[in-house]
Amino acid sequence: MLRDLYSRPVKDLRISVTDRCNFRCTYCMPLDEYEWIDKKEILSFEEITRLARLFIQLGVEKIRLTGGEPLVRRDIESLVAELSRLEGLKDLCLTTNGSLLAEKAGALQAAGLRRINLSLDTLDPDKFRRMTKRGDLEKVLEGLFAAQAQGLGPIKINAVVERGVNEDDILPLVEFSRENGFAIRFIEYMDVGNSNNWTSEKLVAKKEILEIVNARYPVREVGRAEGSAPSVDYQFVDGRGELGVVASVTEPFCSNCTRARLTADGKLVTCLFSSVGHDLKSLLRTGSPDETILEFITGVWTKRKDRYSADRLEALQSSTYDPRTHKKIEMITLGG
Ligand code: SAM
Ligand code: SF4
Ligand code: SF4
Repeated sequence: MLRDLYSRPVKDLRISVTDRCNFRCTYCMPLDEYEWIDKKEILSFEEITRLARLFIQLGVEKIRLTGGEPLVRRDIESLVAELSRLEGLKDLCLTTNGSLLAEKAGALQAAGLRRINLSLDTLDPDKFRRMTKRGDLEKVLEGLFAAQAQGLGPIKINAVVERGVNEDDILPLVEFSRENGFAIRFIEYMDVGNSNNWTSEKLVAKKEILEIVNARYPVREVGRAEGSAPSVDYQFVDGRGELGVVASVTEPFCSNCTRARLTADGKLVTCLFSSVGHDLKSLLRTGSPDETILEFITGVWTKRKDRYSADRLEALQSSTYDPRTHKKIEMITLGG
């Protein structure tokens, strides 16, 4: 089995299908304009499907479609249909801001999508608009319930928690999720990309998130799915609903990180905080046979030694961490 320098296999592939997004969440993509990937550089659905098949041969079991906003990519359901037919793939999921989901849920379900994750950080329409700069909460909720009606589940709601912005939304989001049959997952605010002006003061740590939830709705820890998932999961003691916390900053999970990323322009990226990617598109577009591409991916993965979050925690603890000293690929390019 293919393993990296810390003996981590490649099991998950996050595919960014576009770097465009119709929102401008302040913690992710706060600027109006970025250096967008040129249209002709974006991988076609055939190219993505071919690479997905090769990654599956190397051990990938789960694929997540992401971006940017995956539903702004035209005809995304055709890609879902192709991927859902791939032999050996155990799980196909899509992460969305939900804004186009009301229109797309039926087609996605018919194409073979089984589940979605939806990002939702507040239930207050004005704050929602402020946090996403362009989003309409009502449209997102409509999309969320349309997906549920189509049976695209279990649905997880992802909420990034930012100090001074939405800590007071933690309990309303828990209540909303429990009442409506969604799992809720809180994500520590991270220093992704280069433009969100992250500081450790904006972080609400897992410990504090749990204290807030536990004081009102007691929970018991279940652990990480398959021992390697980013989220630590909890059950509510009263048996109603599920909670997860992704503590990338305060409890890094690099030692079990089995995730590879494919950018919309065909670069293989081995860490969310990488500064460079490895060009697969050139191999695809110069007629390389499968064996050559498999060898290239194997070469990259066997040399992988990423552990950015683990190193960051050490630097934060010794007060030597400055996120600006490390230039990263934007999250919209490499897929969150
Ligand atoms: N547009 C889709 C969405 O929002 O769900 C998919 C792409 S988005 C980059 C994927 C996930 O990354 C979202 O759940 C989002 O909340 C999360 N994310 C973005 N910026 C983040 C940050 N600074 N810290 C933690 N999570 C972040
Ligand atoms: Fe767009 Fe998702 Fe980033 Fe928000 S988190 S700006 S919806 S890509
Ligand atoms: Fe994986 Fe990099 Fe995140 Fe660590 S920092 S868990 S290696 S993506």
